[in-house]
Amino acid sequence: MQSNPPTMIEIRSHIAGETGEAPAQTDRRVRDLRDYFDIPAVRDGRDHRYRLSGWNRDRQNGLRRALSRRTRAQVLAPQRCAQCGRTPLDHHVVLVVDHKMPREWGGSDDLENLQPLCEDCNSGKKAFYGQYNEYADEIRAAADHDEPHGRIGELLKAFQGNPVPGELIGVVASMKQYQDDWQRRTRELRALGWDYETKRSKDPETGRTLVFYRLIHWEPWPEGSIRAEIEKRK
Ligand SMILES: [Zn+2]
Repeated sequence: MQSNPPTMIEIRSHIAGETGEAPAQTDRRVRDLRDYFDIPAVRDGRDHRYRLSGWNRDRQNGLRRALSRRTRAQVLAPQRCAQCGRTPLDHHVVLVVDHKMPREWGGSDDLENLQPLCEDCNSGKKAFYGQYNEYADEIRAAADHDEPHGRIGELLKAFQGNPVPGELIGVVASMKQYQDDWQRRTRELRALGWDYETKRSKDPETGRTLVFYRLIHWEPWPEGSIRAEIEKRK
């Protein structure tokens, strides 16, 4: 295997130079290839590289395996939409199993990544998250960071100064261990010299208030544990 394959940014600019394709289109091609190959985006210092690591096994097993009936039943057991709180009994909504971190972004089929949503909330969420598909690989790579502060920080960096929906930060922060207070973890980045601003806006579709985070300044990660460094500087 080539030890220094081109970074994601190099591939994008090469393709843009050759074909004039926008980065988002290039990313889509990579996602298409993932139907057949296993191509994780691997963090390498500041860059991300695509690593072709083999055939897509899910595909070989006949696309992605569907969730088991038992898993579905467990997720739907509360019989209440995790977002709007409506229930099939009182509001005649239909509940579906939702992946908090979408599968296309590397979300697993583990119970912690699944929740019941009504069909309205589910399609709203799909449309909302769909706007961020161009960041799919960066989101995947950020979620792979070992520490919650690292996952949050890398996600903010990935958006390159564009606003990140708080909901997405919460999901990515909780990827390896559940974070009940990701807002606090985000604030703690300030102890490391990071700066960001928040903006609230109302979702015209649902009327929900959404909070967005925009990174203004970041610092390199400390050598050792991020948490230990934050405790030291507090
Ligand atoms: Zn709902």
